[in-house]
Amino acid sequence: MDIQVGDILKMKKQHPCGSSEWKVLRVGADFRLKCMGCGHQIMIARRQAEKNIKAIVERVGGISEKPLADHSRLCYDKDS
Ligand SMILES: [Zn+2]
Repeated sequence: MDIQVGDILKMKKQHPCGSSEWKVLRVGADFRLKCMGCGHQIMIARRQAEKNIKAIVERVGGISEKPLADHSRLCYDKDS
């Protein structure tokens, strides 16, 4: 399954807070996911995450790098 940073995933298992939607903060050997209900963050092995994904609810289309670049530039300008 093709998961990208910024995707909102619907998982088979619900978080104790009642939400089953997670935002992808980081992908790699492990995924970093943030609960859309309570903001709790977890690290989960890619294989385990993929097994638990029910659907991709929302995807930020084709702008995977731009927001990050803009943000770091803003921070840079602020510091200088
Ligand atoms: Zn939660």
